[in-house]
Amino acid sequence: MPPARLRDPAATTWRCTKCLEDKPLAAFRANPKCRSGLNTHCRDCVNRAGADWYARNRERRDAKSRAWAAAHPEEIREYQQRSCRRHATVRRARTRRWKEANADRDRARKQRYNRENRAAILEYERQYRRSHPVEFKAKYALRRARRYGATVEVVIAAEVFKRDRWRCGLCGKRVARRDATVDHIVPLARGGEHSYRNAQTAHFRCNAAKGARGGGQLRLIG
Ligand SMILES: [Zn+2]
Ligand SMILES: [Zn+2]
Repeated sequence: MPPARLRDPAATTWRCTKCLEDKPLAAFRANPKCRSGLNTHCRDCVNRAGADWYARNRERRDAKSRAWAAAHPEEIREYQQRSCRRHATVRRARTRRWKEANADRDRARKQRYNRENRAAILEYERQYRRSHPVEFKAKYALRRARRYGATVEVVIAAEVFKRDRWRCGLCGKRVARRDATVDHIVPLARGGEHSYRNAQTAHFRCNAAKGARGGGQLRLIG
């Protein structure tokens, strides 16, 4: 910026009246109020003075912020919400890391939460089951498969029935809607996966009979 109005127009340095050093003109901020057009103190000295003031007045400043915060709860809440949203990604990552590192504590925490909110959770599930019957069934099957440690994908029963043209994979006969179940070709208990590949339409009876035989005939998937 133009260091205007120096007594010596050819000067390339300027003396700081604080530290008394000769410094290049760029080391001073422009100040149109000064006769020289430059601050009398160099940038370093100005910055240091600011930092000193900041440190000296810390308590007073903090008290002032606290007072302002107490008088403006709405603004504070809004600010917190905004900041919360802004840092959501970082926070989620941190939570995930904590959960991975503290699997036991996380499980205990979940169990305690479920215990304490049992009634509300059951009520929520009832409502969800009623409003989302297809998803509920698919999710239930998924949870069950996960308990077996199976490889899983979301399997929608209706899709399996449609794919198999409502024919039982165990006895080959047609299946009525009310008798239709999804059978794991290789049972989960034998390491079968919960997937469309390993799923077939089956009569409720056929499925139950296979289950009773301890997994029934082993068929190749593909
Ligand atoms: Zn200085
Ligand atoms: Zn059948």
